Amino acid sequence: MPVADNHVHPWRESTRQLTPDQLAGEVAFSQTVVTSVRREFLPRDQLEPALRLFRETNLGVAYFRRELAAFLGVDDDWATVAAARNAAAAADYRAWTGQLFEDVGITALCVDEGGAQPRITLEELAAIAPVSLRRVARSDNFIRDLLPECDDWGSFYRRYQEFLDEAIGDGAIAFKSVIAYRTGLDVAPVSEAEARNDFESHRLGSEREQKVFRDFLLCHTLDVARERGIWMHFHAGVVDPEIVYERANPSLLHPLLSSSRFRSNQVVLVHGGWPWTAEAAAMASILPNLYLDLSEGALFGMPNLRQRMLEALEACPYAKILYGADGSLPEALWIAAKRFKRVLGQVLGDLSEEGFCSPPEANQAASMILHDNAARMYRL
Ligand SMILES: [Zn+2]
Repeated sequence: MPVADNHVHPWRESTRQLTPDQLAGEVAFSQTVVTSVRREFLPRDQLEPALRLFRETNLGVAYFRRELAAFLGVDDDWATVAAARNAAAAADYRAWTGQLFEDVGITALCVDEGGAQPRITLEELAAIAPVSLRRVARSDNFIRDLLPECDDWGSFYRRYQEFLDEAIGDGAIAFKSVIAYRTGLDVAPVSEAEARNDFESHRLGSEREQKVFRDFLLCHTLDVARERGIWMHFHAGVVDPEIVYERANPSLLHPLLSSSRFRSNQVVLVHGGWPWTAEAAAMASILPNLYLDLSEGALFGMPNLRQRMLEALEACPYAKILYGADGSLPEALWIAAKRFKRVLGQVLGDLSEEGFCSPPEANQAASMILHDNAARMYRL
């Protein structure tokens, strides 16, 4: 069954060679304190012994090692697995990636460019990833890039609008907001005058102080997305320590997404609101244009995928559920898809036996979650 991954991040050619710790860390949440934070959380040398212990005691990491050892046909220990993986990647990284993707049926990736500077372009990724790639443009990056160069609201807002236009012109299928990391998901519409005041007072302040103009820009981005027929992806869930944890619950978006201004926006809650997946699924089941992607839990929560799928399926039509890995390395995309397919088969098999669907409908549900929903939504 083909797989269209709704949420991945791009990787660089330099990942052709990795240490065993780097490879193992790709599926360990504990590593995010060093891999995905913008400012040092704690000194690396102070963290390293603990991170080693956490990798060694993470069941997802052990599963990844075992499966990758079997795929490579080598002994099941990290030194051997990483050496064999590096040898395969060194010979031909693109071909090795193709082998992994073929094994699990990955045919298309929706690529959230993440915060990497300089940006990893789709052209760069296409050189090492032999599948169809579509851009998801991070609107928060536009703010990041414009704040140092525009000191007046007029030029800042105009340039921001140009960035949105350029991304659409570049073929972006969605804008991605990580406002959950900046000021929180309790986004409230404000007037442009209020946004301008906030910008003038807090342009050089901390992100947490910039809530008013960031909320204004997000609402504008939603207007543009709706008018131009593209999707909005919201980061909804917990990942690294920079998250505004107390305002990351997806239910905080309900006032915005149910408002008359935005209820016809096509929106995906990325990460299924992990760990508030049941709440995210409940919201997706009552808002007609809200969809749910199960990334993050698919990769970093591999032992408990069954529960997340059932939470998503309990009230949410399977036409609204999307597969996503949230990985940023071919092996991470591979293991997430492998595990997800295995568990999805078991979950749908059980539901079919219990009378919720016929075996052909179970197949259809799997096909839609893994591929067809994304293909329909983004015209892949
Ligand atoms: Zn992500």
